[in-house]
Parts: sequence; C-alpha cells; structure tokens
Amino acid sequence: MPLLEAIKVTKRFGGLVAVDSVDFTIERGAIVSLIGPNGAGKTTFFNCITGYYQPDEGQIYLDGVPLVGLKPHRITALGIGRTFQNIRLFNNMTAVENVMVGRHARMRATMFGSLLRTAHTRQEERETFQKASELLRYVGLRSKDNELAKNLSYGDQRRLEIARALATEPKLLLLDEPTAGMNPGEMAAMVTFIRKLRDDLGITILLIEHQMKVVMTISERVTVLDFGVKIAEGTPQEVQRDPRVREAYLGKEYGQEAAPA
Ligand code: ADP
Ligand code: MG
Repeated sequence: MPLLEAIKVTKRFGGLVAVDSVDFTIERGAIVSLIGPNGAGKTTFFNCITGYYQPDEGQIYLDGVPLVGLKPHRITALGIGRTFQNIRLFNNMTAVENVMVGRHARMRATMFGSLLRTAHTRQEERETFQKASELLRYVGLRSKDNELAKNLSYGDQRRLEIARALATEPKLLLLDEPTAGMNPGEMAAMVTFIRKLRDDLGITILLIEHQMKVVMTISERVTVLDFGVKIAEGTPQEVQRDPRVREAYLGKEYGQEAAPA
C-alpha cells in the first residue's frame, strides 16, 4: 500500500479548476517533488491533502485511512506535517515556543490538566520543552532557543518551520518551496538536510520546488502540474525530457532555472 494515495482530486474556486482530477501516490520512504508554473495548483493540492481545503471531488488516503472531511489538526495527528510557502511562524514567540506549539499536537495534556498544573502536566511540559530544544539543534538552530522568531534570518525561519513540523512526528512531510529565497549555498545545505530527514528519521517527503537543480538532485519521482492538470510524472530525467513539460514549464533552454516569478 502506498503511504499516500490521492484519487481524482478536484478543487474549484468559483469557475476556476485549481486542481483537476489529479491522481497521485507516494511510496513510503520516498522523496518526491511536485513542480509546475505559478498558479498550477501545487499549493492548493497540498491544502487538500492537509485539510486546509476540502476537495470538491476525489479521495485521499494516508496508510489507507481516508482524509477527506477531516480537520487539519486531525490530519496532523494522523501523521502529515507541513511547512508553508509563505512562512507562518508566531513572530513574537521564541524559537523553542514555536516548536512547542507543534509538539502540542502530540501531547495528551488537556486544558483541564493545564489549569490544574498537575504534576503530570508539568512533567509533560518539561518533556515538550526538552524535545523542542533537541529539534532546534537537529535542524541546525543550536543556541537559538530563546530568539524571537521574527529576529531569525530567513533561512533560519525556514528551518524553524521544519522543526515545528517535525515536532508533530510526521510520517509524511510536505514542504512548500523550502528553498525559496535562499542562496546556492543555503540551497545545497537544505538538500542535504532533506535527505537526512528521510535517511535518519524515515520520513517520507513531498516537496514543491521551483529550483530545477534542487528538484533534479533530490527527487526520486517528479509530478508536473499545469493549470491544475497532471501533465507528466516519472523520474527527474524522464520529466526533464518530456516535451509537454518543456513547453509548459521548463522553457526551451532547460538548464537555466525555471522562473519562480
Ligand atoms: P501554485 O502553488 O502552483 O503556484 P496555487 O495552488 O497557489 O498554485 O493556485 C492555483 C490557482 O488557484 C491559482 O489560479 C490561484 O489564484 C487559485 N487559488 C488558490 N487559492 C485560492 C483561493 N483561496 N481562492 C481563490 N482562488 C485560489
Ligand atoms: Mg504555491
């Protein structure tokens, strides 16, 4: 059974079909990319998987469990973590507090317990803090625990978002343009880091990515959307050679970066 299976997923906004009957599967342990021009429906597809949008048609399964109709926090608890194309952090909270927010999706502490400050709750909070701090170290934010999110560099904010997603203990991690705004050195570090997540933690990874160099280096499979429709799928080499992909996205002179615009 694939880890994720989407069957004929459609999402409309008024007359616009943002995602058009897309079939998509991810094998456990894979690193796969979703690419396509701006407005192709990539983020909308992520939002359908994660419950931020309800698809108008279609089915989505994680490990055979149907996701359509579930609220985002339920889907998080089932094992899908994500980052956002436009970074969404709690700017006036510290790095460690931002990660603790993610961790709470996994905690058993109830509101009642928090109010009573039972020994058990306090113990759980301590563990959450420690775990969050460890995750910050893991993503390369050692010693930044108490920095406010807004004071971190852009690259560090992206890492912090990943740490928060990891705190939910995902089986599947969705990264929406993780290298956006990064310089080539930061991009290479991100590629190494994404591989490490899969190799060390066994997390399956789906990324939306514009930098073709990143896509070609990291992906085992690539799926291409154009106007909401899946126009190609295969290995990076297969997709790169596909005439429809070249026309829709890569342009005539592949080898240059496709413009993120
Ligand atoms: P991508 O991530 O591939 O750039 P998006 O999924 O963001 O594309 O957008 C796909 C299409 O759906 C675009 O035409 C966009 O304007 C539209 N769209 C996305 N979200 C909404 C929304 N909440 N309301 C209306 N239209 C939307
Ligand atoms: Mg997008």
